[in-house]
Amino acid sequence: MIRSPHRRHAWAWTRRAGADRSLALALAASASACIGDVDPDHADDRLLVDGGTVVVMDAEGTILEGGAVLVEGDRIAALLEASAPRPPGVRVIDATGHLVVPGLVNTHGHAAMSLLRGLADDLPLMTWLEQHIFPVEAELVAPDFVYWGTLLASAEMLRNGTTTFADMYYFRDEVARAAVEAGIRAVTGPGIIGFPAPDFPTPDASLQDAAAFLEEYRDHPLIVPGVSAHALYTTPLEAVERAARLAVEHDAVFQIHAAEDPSEDSTTRAATGMGVVEALESAGVLRPGTVLAHAVYLSDEEIALIAASGAGIAHNPQSNMKLGIAAAARVPEALAAGIPVGLGTDGPASNNDLDLFDEMDAAAKLHKFVSGDPSVLPAETVFRMATAGGARALNLHDRIGSLEPGKKADIVLLDVGRPGLAPLYRVYSHLVYAARGSDVATVLVNGRIVVEDGRVVSIDEQEVMRQAREFGDRIREVVERVAAGASS
Ligand SMILES: [Zn+2]
Repeated sequence: MIRSPHRRHAWAWTRRAGADRSLALALAASASACIGDVDPDHADDRLLVDGGTVVVMDAEGTILEGGAVLVEGDRIAALLEASAPRPPGVRVIDATGHLVVPGLVNTHGHAAMSLLRGLADDLPLMTWLEQHIFPVEAELVAPDFVYWGTLLASAEMLRNGTTTFADMYYFRDEVARAAVEAGIRAVTGPGIIGFPAPDFPTPDASLQDAAAFLEEYRDHPLIVPGVSAHALYTTPLEAVERAARLAVEHDAVFQIHAAEDPSEDSTTRAATGMGVVEALESAGVLRPGTVLAHAVYLSDEEIALIAASGAGIAHNPQSNMKLGIAAAARVPEALAAGIPVGLGTDGPASNNDLDLFDEMDAAAKLHKFVSGDPSVLPAETVFRMATAGGARALNLHDRIGSLEPGKKADIVLLDVGRPGLAPLYRVYSHLVYAARGSDVATVLVNGRIVVEDGRVVSIDEQEVMRQAREFGDRIREVVERVAAGASS
């Protein structure tokens, strides 16, 4: 609930002369109750998220009962303990009865595949990809498909408390356009795959004008430039190497599917004479800001190699389980080796939702199940993977992943005054094992409210749904045609 008469005018508070100075002095006098700096120049764009249980996700695991987060513009200016003086006249979001947590970070997915959700299920990865997804994508994926599909996915992710997603898909300009309109942070950019893609016929064509995109979004408030290569089993190693070099030159995130399927090791060895991780190392892929999606089949040596490089892993437990990947990624070992591990939903057609709360629950339980040890991946560790860990995997930990002063104001309010979440004994337990995305009430990205009362307010959700249903009709026709062609 927003406690202000100016619901749509975020920064419409009238300032008394000297109010900022007195606030700064009051906060300075109670230094132990306030973490951060208040900038008098930002008086007009302040917002206070007040009265909730603030789960900071700093290194110390600080939790402030009845605390407040002071937002100035797009960043977090200060954290206030319950006893600290509050800024006068500031617009307040009443967080009483809520957990106030960092926006969740989805480290791997293919957002526009939201339009293909439920089209084909219960199949092995290669059958699913080669006989169902790739043929339909070849016919259908165009700029409007990617734009509306990404908007649809962005609405779902924002409602579920995700404020940053790393995307690997086609038509990067449309992904960026949709993300900016929805007001969600997105890692996107040039991608390559070793066969004709809907947007570019070859990896060379995709990489040709890639620098322009990376430069255009270099300092964008929402778009984080990234380069991706689909996988070693679809893309020649020398093309992967060129893409990785491009990412280094532009200080961009690099994403690639790696060691997802047991067949990948033998196909990579046949093509390159090396194992998956060794091949990636030889191509210059492994470095901070590179995210290996899945990384299920890793040896001890490969874990050591990744750890030494600073590269991260996107763990996608539900996608892996659904596609019958008959092993759990070695997440406990990766974390123990110091690898930054984040969580990912993967595409909505292989999950089939974009709810990181659901993903956390699955991650925690999967690893307890396969190890036979209930102490493996405790709740706080898993929540860290979905926030600060994911931010570190993407090399964005100076900007997002925690509610520390100086970081971007990506903030989620989760309503714990509901059946299923009360009473509350341990915060991380509820966040990982009990909460769902549908418990999210309010979401801020860059200090802007994008979800209010559980609904996305940055875009017209009804129009997005109408477009999604229209695409559904077109996609159904194409699937029938593809199936008829396959059987004739
Ligand atoms: Zn994927």
